[in-house]
Amino acid sequence: MSLLRPPLTALVDLVYPPHCAGCGVRQPVGQWLCATCESRVRRLHGPKCPICSRPFGGALEAFLCPNCRNEALHLDFALSVMRSDGLVRELIHRFKYGREFHLRRVLGDWLAEAFSDQRLAATADVCLAPVPLHPARLRERRFNQSEALACWIGRRLGLRVERPLRRRRHTVTQTHFDRRQRMRNLRGAFALRHNADVNDKSFLLVDDVLTTGSTLDECARVLLEGGACSVRAITVARG
Ligand SMILES: [Zn+2]
Ligand SMILES: [Zn+2]
Repeated sequence: MSLLRPPLTALVDLVYPPHCAGCGVRQPVGQWLCATCESRVRRLHGPKCPICSRPFGGALEAFLCPNCRNEALHLDFALSVMRSDGLVRELIHRFKYGREFHLRRVLGDWLAEAFSDQRLAATADVCLAPVPLHPARLRERRFNQSEALACWIGRRLGLRVERPLRRRRHTVTQTHFDRRQRMRNLRGAFALRHNADVNDKSFLLVDDVLTTGSTLDECARVLLEGGACSVRAITVARG
């Protein structure tokens, strides 16, 4: 994919020459990772569930995973690019909790690879929508990682970014819950913003990691209830 670099970023790179986000070695302008670090990350190649991107070790072709077979989602599907382990997990952690805003570039470029999937080929009328962060969490982290990623790929790929959702309460991830319990736990966590116009729009939710998919699905539920015509999701990694 050929991507235009925003001029301001190019200028900043001249003043502060880029270093590898993984090991800190000096890098040519426009490259966020050195070849060694790039070779350490794992993409989600191979068969995976077409709905939730869960990889199938050893399977010859993709089929619906047991979760998606048993429970209908509000999301059409969620597409993840990387496996959430090793350097990928480390970079996401530093981005979210270490306030390393510059990592939106390497993570955002990985996220943009999601668009090589045929199902995202016609995206001209799609709106990117970040998963909102609770205001208290936002003060703590300084920025919303989902929004930073959405803005990065929005600029690079010329896609609209909208913020139709707000977070009413913060929920702790409870991975040991089953799906039904998680959905109950998330009920009321998100709402449409006061002036949000979602009617007849197609949304592509953006997030850093998909673990259980419940948060993204709850966002999709709220958007569909508000009149959106379809909701899909992309994430950098799959936990
Ligand atoms: Zn490196
Ligand atoms: Zn699945």
